[in-house]
Amino acid sequence: MATQDVLQSVVQFSRLDRLLDLCRANSLWPMTFGLACCAIEMMATGASRFDLARFGAEVFRPSPRQSDVMIVSGTINRKMAPAVQTLYDQMPEPKWVIAMGNCAISGGPFVFKGQYAVVEGASKLFPVDVVIPGCPPRPEALIEGILKLEEKLTGTRRWPRVTPESAWKTAAP
Ligand code: SF4
Repeated sequence: MATQDVLQSVVQFSRLDRLLDLCRANSLWPMTFGLACCAIEMMATGASRFDLARFGAEVFRPSPRQSDVMIVSGTINRKMAPAVQTLYDQMPEPKWVIAMGNCAISGGPFVFKGQYAVVEGASKLFPVDVVIPGCPPRPEALIEGILKLEEKLTGTRRWPRVTPESAWKTAAP
């Protein structure tokens, strides 16, 4: 194959990759999975009031094998950590992780000298792509985190910043 043909194939593959990333960013499949109080806010985010379908992320799947986003919403205690790790391992590539709330980021209020029960953040188990601080973060913060993940995948920001006011609208914010 001539050098020009090789270069053309590389360019085409790179474009295909970008197209796939655009499709993935607009069709995220989060796992139905919660660990503690932050999960209540995640469930609220999935309700009709916040209309996650606007961002292509409303189809929460009951199996890690059908999911590409793990939203770690809550405290990871050491007894639960192997199960969380297994769920992550069972997700097919490409996959992403959102650490929702202070517990998922760093162990939150349960980390103090001598504590032995809580993992100090999801990043101790696997790579984390987006962090959402708060105790708990509100639904619009989770939506903003999902948009940040979309931005990470495509390199562009499609939506304006989500605020408490704009998050409730059923039209585009
Ligand atoms: Fe609960 Fe706060 Fe930890 Fe979220 S960050 S799981 S609300 S203690």
